[in-house]
Amino acid sequence: MSDVGELYQDIILDHNRRPRNYGELAGDARRAEGKNPLCGDEVTVWVRLDGDVIGEVSFVGIGCAISRASASLMTAAVKGKSRAEAVELFDRVHGLVTGREREPDSYKKLGGLAALSGVSRYPARVKCASLAWHALRSAMAAAPASVSAE
Ligand code: ZN
Repeated sequence: MSDVGELYQDIILDHNRRPRNYGELAGDARRAEGKNPLCGDEVTVWVRLDGDVIGEVSFVGIGCAISRASASLMTAAVKGKSRAEAVELFDRVHGLVTGREREPDSYKKLGGLAALSGVSRYPARVKCASLAWHALRSAMAAAPASVSAE
């Protein structure tokens, strides 16, 4: 494996071991769940929109290292982005993990998310890598949780 491959491997393992933005968002956050029965991955994503911008985002997930690392990398990448920017980023990541996106330049723009490029060699893992992103998209489209007025 190349040095770059090893670097990417380290990023995946680090995010799996120490996931960023892990835990529930309380209050009126929107949430959605995703399941990947092929691998046994389950993820719940919370998002709080500030107008059209992702103010806060978090996740809780069980499953393989790729599904957890992808969710962790996602939360770090989309915070502060608009809904449209997040969906566009998802499209790029999807291209990356399916091997459609092979431009080294776009890897650079993706930052840590580029670590997911190795997934393109394992088509069965594409669902693992995209699970949290699908959940994010659903969460952004969901209604905010109703907060009981007390
Ligand atoms: Zn998986």
